Amino acid sequence: MDAEFVIVGGGVHGLATAYHLALGGAASVTVLEAGVVASGASGGFGERGVRANRRDLRELPLMAEANSLWPTLHEELGAPTGYRRTGGVYLIDGPASTGFKGLDAAEVYAKAHRGLGVVAEVWDRRRVEREYPGISPAVQGASFVQTDGVASHAKTTEAYAQAARRLGVQVVEQTHVADLEVDAAGRVRAVITAQGERIRVGREVLLANNTGVRDLVLAAAGQELPLWSVYPQALRLRSLVAPQIPMLTGHETRPLSVKVLGDELMLSGGWRGRATPAGGVPDEERIRGNIAVLEAVFPYLTGLEVVDADVSRAESASVDQIPIIGRCGPNLSVATGWSGHGWAIAPVVARHLATMLLHDSRSALLAPFSPDRFH
Ligand SMILES: Cc1cc2nc3c(=O)[nH]c(=O)nc-3n(C[C@H](O)[C@H](O)[C@H](O)COP(=O)(O)OP(=O)(O)OC[C@H]3O[C@@H](n4cnc5c(N)ncnc54)[C@H](O)[C@@H]3O)c2cc1C
Repeated sequence: MDAEFVIVGGGVHGLATAYHLALGGAASVTVLEAGVVASGASGGFGERGVRANRRDLRELPLMAEANSLWPTLHEELGAPTGYRRTGGVYLIDGPASTGFKGLDAAEVYAKAHRGLGVVAEVWDRRRVEREYPGISPAVQGASFVQTDGVASHAKTTEAYAQAARRLGVQVVEQTHVADLEVDAAGRVRAVITAQGERIRVGREVLLANNTGVRDLVLAAAGQELPLWSVYPQALRLRSLVAPQIPMLTGHETRPLSVKVLGDELMLSGGWRGRATPAGGVPDEERIRGNIAVLEAVFPYLTGLEVVDADVSRAESASVDQIPIIGRCGPNLSVATGWSGHGWAIAPVVARHLATMLLHDSRSALLAPFSPDRFH
């Protein structure tokens, strides 16, 4: 099982990077996954937002490129991704109260989007009412991005796994990486599994194991990445009344993100499960809080029934809420710290990261996310 490139983590980032490494000519690539493919944040029910709207400005160029990849990604991978371009809206309550929020800030973001060729508009109350009949009178406007949409995270991750395997990548499940063997010069020589197996590393190790990256980097490179584990709350709801929510919808100041899945709703928006040493645990109060925000913004949605509440999928959050991508040692790279929005950019991060690793080059698009920014 020795390999030129060893990747830890079989989520979307590990598998997509493995696919691009193999496509780019890597001699051998092995992905080691503790559970099964997509058993972390890249799995579970529903859809993930493919959203540029209100994204950190440093991530916008990545999203502009991702927008051109998502519509045909299923053709490239030869399997469905469930991608749908719905358009995306961020609802805004009231006019600007500070420089950070409100309709004035929305204009700034829309201009930044348009500069990258993305169709973005600021809507007034009348336009919002037309698209969202029955919405709360508190909503005074919205930012709209035409190219936003949703994709099935489980299907896309599986599609990357299949495409990578077809190119000869070994995807090894039920294999937890417990340690990295490092020589005196700081090079990772081997990856050690929990079963005691030693997998020799020909060239590079990529840690794409999300919340598990921090501990492995600390042990192998002595670097403390400013990362924490969070357990995002995702609810599946049934509503007695048909929701008039035509797009991927978030709210600028209220913790709300909602997608319509057939006759159900998927609700999230920054709420989290309770963190325990054993993982995320659902918290009744936070579930009720999440639903109360939905009802406040869409007052006609009554009789909502919780079908499922998932807080089991750990996600890494970085201190500055943008990813950490790049080298932490001579042949040790990381891709982590997604802070709840690592899904949409995965296809483009993987392309650029694979090129960097194959050619030992730099990527201007990934430069803002380098671990070097912390020291
Ligand atoms: C509920 C929820 C909603 C989200 N919504 C959005 C959204 O709308 N838009 C968006 O852009 N992003 C969203 N995200 C974030 C996005 O899903 C994640 O950023 C992305 O899936 C992370 O992918 P990954 O491959 O880095 O990590 P993961 O999918 O977590 O994969 C890491 C893998 O590593 C494995 N692993 C861990 N430790 C080890 C080890 N020591 N050895 C071997 N394997 C190991 C795990 O089992 C796991 O399968 C959401 C996340 C959640 C949880």
